[in-house]
Amino acid sequence: MSEKTILVWFRNDLRIHDNEILLEAVRKADRVLPVYCFDPYYFQRSVSGYPKTGSFRARFLLEAVADLRKNLQAYGAELVIRIGNPAEILPQLAEQYQVNEVYHHREVAYEETEISEQVEAALWKLRLNLKHFIGHTLYHKEDLPFPIKDIPDSFAIFKKKVERDSNVRQVVPTPEQISTPEISDAGELPTLQQLGLDEPIDDARATNYFQGGETAALIQLHKYFSSSEQAVKLKGAKNSITNNSSKLSPWLSVGCISPRQVYWEIFKHTQDSFAQNASMLKLELLWRDYFRFMFKKHGQKFIKADTEGQETETFAANEADFNKWAHGETGVPFIDACMHELNATGYICNQCRQIVATYLVHDLKADWTRGAAYFEEKLIDYSPASNWGNWAFIAGVNDAKESKYAIATLQPKDSASDFVTTWQHSPIDEAGDLVKV
Ligand SMILES: Cc1cc2nc3c(=O)[nH]c(=O)nc-3n(C[C@H](O)[C@H](O)[C@H](O)COP(=O)(O)OP(=O)(O)OC[C@H]3O[C@@H](n4cnc5c(N)ncnc54)[C@H](O)[C@@H]3O)c2cc1C
Repeated sequence: MSEKTILVWFRNDLRIHDNEILLEAVRKADRVLPVYCFDPYYFQRSVSGYPKTGSFRARFLLEAVADLRKNLQAYGAELVIRIGNPAEILPQLAEQYQVNEVYHHREVAYEETEISEQVEAALWKLRLNLKHFIGHTLYHKEDLPFPIKDIPDSFAIFKKKVERDSNVRQVVPTPEQISTPEISDAGELPTLQQLGLDEPIDDARATNYFQGGETAALIQLHKYFSSSEQAVKLKGAKNSITNNSSKLSPWLSVGCISPRQVYWEIFKHTQDSFAQNASMLKLELLWRDYFRFMFKKHGQKFIKADTEGQETETFAANEADFNKWAHGETGVPFIDACMHELNATGYICNQCRQIVATYLVHDLKADWTRGAAYFEEKLIDYSPASNWGNWAFIAGVNDAKESKYAIATLQPKDSASDFVTTWQHSPIDEAGDLVKV
């Protein structure tokens, strides 16, 4: 009987731990062919004219893929790296290595699912199956207490029902060994220049440095829990909130760590002095799931305004207003400081994102999709569902208008400086989001 080879197409799951497609491939096949494609599509300019991927994120991605290769090599395997359209590359590799099946993790946002469909169609011409797995969310789709079409649009109801009626699955084991076919042309990692980007300049004032890869992700997870525990101890109060966010988002976005791995680490702390911080972190992971499931349920409609029977929205902001916002030159110190930090580092905290987005949409009256496209380029943790979902929420265009989050981001009616003062003095709700008083 001939040997079976499964191609594992790595996308936003750049890890070996808790990786169901890798484990299943190892169990089902004699040989596993791990592949990563740098798709030029993601390094073009978007319809809004911004590069789809900025240099901070591109560097992070290169580091993450390099780390994946190193970790696979430690298991006796090799990662094949290519630059090009996966719908052309994967069928070529499938023929070259006599692959029997291709595995990948299913995505939810429009561009990612389009790419999967193209790959699926191209493989089908070779009579090869693209097998879809679910692995990006904390809760598995099959374990939700409702079918996708009936997922509540309100985050509060979604949270209540999911927490009451669903369980988070255990992480899957890491394979003990991974056998790859003999690979003579594994391919080199591209340089930033080959991807059309310049080397990012690290700002000496940055308080976070994000190094791509599963190895750094696991270190950050450990660091977060140990430093937060330390902070709680120093405060001397049981269950005190340090308001210390995990900074795990860049790794979660490209799957260097799984939300389940983070959850089970949280679980270890649900009984100790860190309990309240742990439950905040779990709540944030639920927000992440919520946006992904909303995209699964509504598709692009989730980020489209329902303008039927209404006048089409006009945006008052002109190009100059938008550019001032983007470059941190609005004259509102807090907004400008946030935008400088975003441009210089690729990261700002959740509250800052909410404030600058609200200011652009409600004060400058700009087209929110331009803000979202700008964030898409700049954010080191860009993730389509989280970015476009959060922006659409703030712009109030999607189906979840009744959510508490939408209320929390209503604009104050005062002047720009009052606006900033209002936000700075607003309390933070249980989800860590600003609540307008
Ligand atoms: C306008 C806007 C755009 C955003 N774009 C992105 C994006 O592209 N990618 C992204 O990962 N997050 C995005 N967020 C959500 C949030 O700001 C970041 O996830 C968070 O700041 C990351 O920091 P952290 O890892 O310390 O988060 P923590 O507070 O430690 O939360 C843990 C994890 O939960 C998830 N999470 C937290 N808050 C949210 C949220 N509101 N929505 C979805 N997931 C959340 C993230 O994966 C995060 O790493 C956006 C928020 C806004 C308001």
